[in-house]
Amino acid sequence: MSLLLGCIADDFTGATDLAGNLVRAGMRTVQLIGVPAPGDPVPDADAVVVALKSRTAPVAEAVADSLASARWLRAAGAPQLYFKVCSTFDSTPAGNIGPVALALADLVGAAIVPVTPAFPEAGRTVFQGHLFVGSQLLSDSPMRQHPLTPMTDANLVRVLQAQLPAGVRVDLVDHRTVAAGAPAIAAGLDALAGAEGAGCRFAVVDTVDDDALRRLAAAAQGLPLVVAGSGLAIGIPALHGLAPGAAASALPPAAGAAAIVSGSCSAATQAQVARFLDGGGAAFAVDPLSIAAGDDVAAQALDWATPRLGDAPLLVYATAAPEAVQRVQAQLGAAEAGALVEATLACIAAGLVQRGVGRLVVAGGETSGACVQALGITRLRIGPQIAPGVPWCHAASALRSQGLHLALKSGNFGRQDFFRDAFGALVQ
Ligand code: ADP
Repeated sequence: MSLLLGCIADDFTGATDLAGNLVRAGMRTVQLIGVPAPGDPVPDADAVVVALKSRTAPVAEAVADSLASARWLRAAGAPQLYFKVCSTFDSTPAGNIGPVALALADLVGAAIVPVTPAFPEAGRTVFQGHLFVGSQLLSDSPMRQHPLTPMTDANLVRVLQAQLPAGVRVDLVDHRTVAAGAPAIAAGLDALAGAEGAGCRFAVVDTVDDDALRRLAAAAQGLPLVVAGSGLAIGIPALHGLAPGAAASALPPAAGAAAIVSGSCSAATQAQVARFLDGGGAAFAVDPLSIAAGDDVAAQALDWATPRLGDAPLLVYATAAPEAVQRVQAQLGAAEAGALVEATLACIAAGLVQRGVGRLVVAGGETSGACVQALGITRLRIGPQIAPGVPWCHAASALRSQGLHLALKSGNFGRQDFFRDAFGALVQ
């Protein structure tokens, strides 16, 4: 069966977020890490999400990677492309949302492309073309101070227009049209694409709640390209006759020892590690200064772990309180400390899997990236959700012939009992 939807996400955790929404709404989904090569086999799935690192990459690289992914997805049979951007529309006047969206629109011959980063469940809504984060305009939210993509204008029509060449126009389909239903939205999009709105290729669509997203998904069903946050995904599976259910999130039965590798120092992860230690779980602390001093900390951790591997999860962690992290960073430099710890934890994750771990939780976004790379993983089948934004996945790995169950948790996700919840949620 060929694909129903081909998605290109501009970062890794955004890809997982989108994939999770598709699975919850009933689509069997596989996430590919990086641009697939022309001969790569098409997974047996309804939707494929290609995870790129294009959000803050140089524009030309972001466009080239996105186009290569789009060609692969189209060759795999995807009738519609979904360019997944951040729900806070993270970008700069140079891009990369505008240039990538335009290149994709040209590739698929899209006359008009609806655009909405809305994700009401997470407090992101679009009204009169303006993006709100909770009750605040985007430009009044902490996003105005983002180190790489400060968002100082909440008017998405203006923000996107500034990223496009002169002559490519952005307009708005407003909330009144959206409230009137899918046919009205479709007519509104057609009108903008037609003579009246000559030159209009992109339409920001007001989306203040999940119903608005569902109406927009229906209106866009025949269009070859949509640009959206992960929210729009909730409306797409039903259009293909798919409904939420266990079949979409089914993974092979889990097997093997259980382990957690944590390199996140975010508040939520600190609380989760503290809860694990309080509960008497077996844990090994990785000391960055010891790595810097030349000790083979990975070997020490693996020697400690090997006799303890089994059904009860063990924890290897570098997670530390802000004061401790600052002390380490003052001695080693923040980037150097981060790289040392990531490399060590990735080596430990790979060693654990070689020694029989088949159920692995990794805490930390960057840490997850390093571990996935060390495990030689290039595709993840997305399974049931443990906590919002964190599903269990199943992946083939060169280090374990029967594959591996993996949960990649970005820092601030999950409640305090996340580690217990995670292993409790996995069917063996
Ligand atoms: P999060 O998702 O919480 O941001 P990341 O893994 O993305 O977590 O980032 C955490 C960073 O902090 C990583 O680069 C990691 O190597 C680094 N790190 C982890 N523990 C320590 C520590 N004790 N001292 C200094 N840096 C650390």
